[in-house]
Amino acid sequence: MSILCGSESIINPLQKSSLNKKGLCDYVINVASGCLHSCVFCYVPSTPVIRTRTAHLKNQGVEDPQMDWGKYLFIRDNLVEQLERQLSGKKTWSETPAGRGVVLLCSGTDPYQNGQTAAITRAAVETLLKYNKRVRILTRSPLWTKDLDLLVHPDVTVGMSIPYLDDELSRRIEPGAPPPSVRLKALQQGKKAGCRLYVAIAPTPPTMDYESFLGHLETLLTLEPEVMFWEPINARGSNGKRMMAAGLDFVQSIMKHQDWAKNFVNQWKMIEYAADCLGCRSRLHIWTDSGLKNYVDSKLLEYWWYKPTFEHWVTSYPVTQSPNHPSIR
Ligand code: SF4
Repeated sequence: MSILCGSESIINPLQKSSLNKKGLCDYVINVASGCLHSCVFCYVPSTPVIRTRTAHLKNQGVEDPQMDWGKYLFIRDNLVEQLERQLSGKKTWSETPAGRGVVLLCSGTDPYQNGQTAAITRAAVETLLKYNKRVRILTRSPLWTKDLDLLVHPDVTVGMSIPYLDDELSRRIEPGAPPPSVRLKALQQGKKAGCRLYVAIAPTPPTMDYESFLGHLETLLTLEPEVMFWEPINARGSNGKRMMAAGLDFVQSIMKHQDWAKNFVNQWKMIEYAADCLGCRSRLHIWTDSGLKNYVDSKLLEYWWYKPTFEHWVTSYPVTQSPNHPSIR
């Protein structure tokens, strides 16, 4: 399928979210359906966001919304006006201890993947700040640096996904996204401007070893991110098939659930060792997975679910950080 772009309407762009489970937010806004960054591991097409809209997307000309992920983008061009309507009529606001009432842009697409999404994102952030909401941006594109005048704000944090700094590997895994070296430069620019920053070391391929984690954390720490989220690649749903189709040999080593879980635990140990070695364990935030139930102590999984991050939001919830995080080891 060739690239298909268009627009669509949205009624309620501001949606409650369960991503407080990952310490990310209580609400999400997605500025588009689809994502041209085409990450082959992307789990979004396997989620209800796309699965429940299969018929609609087929009507729009998308032959296979899961396997064609990365080849379609429908911009929500009425989003800002609808967001204004929602916020102006909103009487209550959810603020969980881990979600902190934050609004994430985006959970199911990249907010800064091109000029059109960037324009909607900027206007959405302006609207959210007008209503005194906290905002978390998550992107793989440096386009956000054009909005530093807006994003350098105590109620905004900007994060980029940088699982590794290997541009060549990135071309095979995230073929439509700007390479990690460009993302690093964008974060350096944001730091210089005084922007609040975080990093998602996600998802890491099973080829990463202890030395890679150590070197990677060392580089990322120069950005002084408030938090560094981590999770490894998983090969569930259609993303396993898409990674195989992209010729990523390492996928074979995590296709079986047991192998995926073992790799998860091994890399978890490695990144914790590396963080301890560099004295940054308190900034490391593990995104655990319910599929680890038979492989990891349930108390450890519970520790990480719904855990507030180390970030410094001005919040009514006291953030209690254990000086010694429980260890996977
Ligand atoms: S940038 Fe995010 S939403 Fe877009 S394809 Fe990559 S992982 Fe999926």
